[in-house]
Amino acid sequence: MALVFTFPCGRCGQKYSIYYPKAFIYTVYGTGTRAQGEREDAEEVAAGAVEAAKRNAEASGNVWVDVSRQPKITCTCGKNLDLNLANHPRVPERKRAASVRQAGVIAFPTAQKRPPASSG
Ligand SMILES: [Zn+2]
Repeated sequence: MALVFTFPCGRCGQKYSIYYPKAFIYTVYGTGTRAQGEREDAEEVAAGAVEAAKRNAEASGNVWVDVSRQPKITCTCGKNLDLNLANHPRVPERKRAASVRQAGVIAFPTAQKRPPASSG
């Protein structure tokens, strides 16, 4: 699953969907190697996850930004938006690392055990 955070502009309310490629996250935050991140990014692009997230964002009127190409954005109203995750305490370090590591894992529901049939 692609890592995308939505930042609303504090002045005019325009929403920005910011895509954080794993290669970017791993190298900036040291949670993995760049090669590892690039491999996972390529898998997400190949699976259409990035394209789907982009379509979703644009369908809801958000501006799509790839943070690895555009680390800073200036809103149409002139306000500069800070895309550095480290400056957004809503995303705790541990949770962020966990969500990055869980990428691509699909959890299957565990089968419920039936109560033993009564014999006799
Ligand atoms: Zn704005």
